[in-house]
Parts: sequence; C-alpha cells; structure tokens
Amino acid sequence: MIERTYVMLKPDGVRKQLLDEIIHRIENIGLSVSNVKEMYLDEEIIREHYAHLVDKPFYPTLELFMMSGPVMAMIVEGENAVSRVRSLMGATDSKDALPGTIRGDYGDKTCCTYNIIHGSDSLENAEIEINRFYPELKKNKVLKK
Ligand code: UDP
Ligand code: MG
Repeated sequence: MIERTYVMLKPDGVRKQLLDEIIHRIENIGLSVSNVKEMYLDEEIIREHYAHLVDKPFYPTLELFMMSGPVMAMIVEGENAVSRVRSLMGATDSKDALPGTIRGDYGDKTCCTYNIIHGSDSLENAEIEINRFYPELKKNKVLKK
C-alpha cells in the first residue's frame, strides 16, 4: 500500500549535517521525500508529539534535547513507507540499533535520547503527525473541498 509517513531529523542529526545522507538513504529504497523544512520546536508541540512519554523520568531531557536546535521535518511517501522508514532508522536505543541503520551508524550509544531521527510508528500516527507539523497542508486540503 502506498503510504505517507512523518520523518524528522532531530537536532543531533542536524548538527551532524546528516540531512543529505538521510534523504539519500530514504530515496535509495524507492521512497520519495517532500516538504522538507527547518523548524524550531516549542514545549507545546514537543509535549503533543511525545504525549506518550511526558510522565517518564527522561522526559525533561528529551524536551531540552528537542529544543536544543532546529529539526528538519519531511514527508516520506511510497510503498509501505511507515514500516520501511522504521527499518531504516533502527532500534530506539542506538546501542541496540544494527550497523547499517541510521541510529546504528550515527546515534549516541551512551544515551537513548540522542538517536538522530524520528519516524511515525503507524499509519494512523503518520497522518496525525503530518497534520501536526504541516498545518499549512491541512488548510489546503480543507480549501480544496
Ligand atoms: N527516549 C528516551 N529514553 C527512552 C525511550 C525513548 O530518551 O528510554 C526518547 C528517544 O529520543 C526516542 C523518543 O524518546 O526516539 C520517543 O520514544 P519512542 O518510544 O516513541 O521511540 P521511537 O518511536 O522514536 O523509536
Ligand atoms: Mg515513537
């Protein structure tokens, strides 16, 4: 099934200048990348995006990290895009992520927080996240109706 998913290069990935490399890896498996944009996230959008984690002890670290610099947002589209992007990313904790995955190759092996990239974990969340980070596209959709 052709799917869309939300991908975000986190501040550590931007600092490591990985945008071109990440786009290359995604395009290399036949998915397309569009709507790339730089964003500075505030507490509110981070809290919404990581609502499932706000009560965790590491949440303050995660929030500070996500505000430590710009992120690069993008929309990725193609066959089974959601699960294929997750495979490219590797395990959440970079020390468990296999070599050849983005987190395995570039993530911080000493801290699970600093893992380079976000990708939606389901088709349902992909649509929610695209709407969250691209309100301008949502508006266009409504106007077209
Ligand atoms: N995270 C963390 N410590 C943990 C689990 C998660 O700092 O023990 C951070 C990490 O940056 C991760 C993000 O919280 O990418 C979101 O966690 P989730 O469980 O949704 O993992 P993901 O979907 O990013 O693989
Ligand atoms: Mg997640």
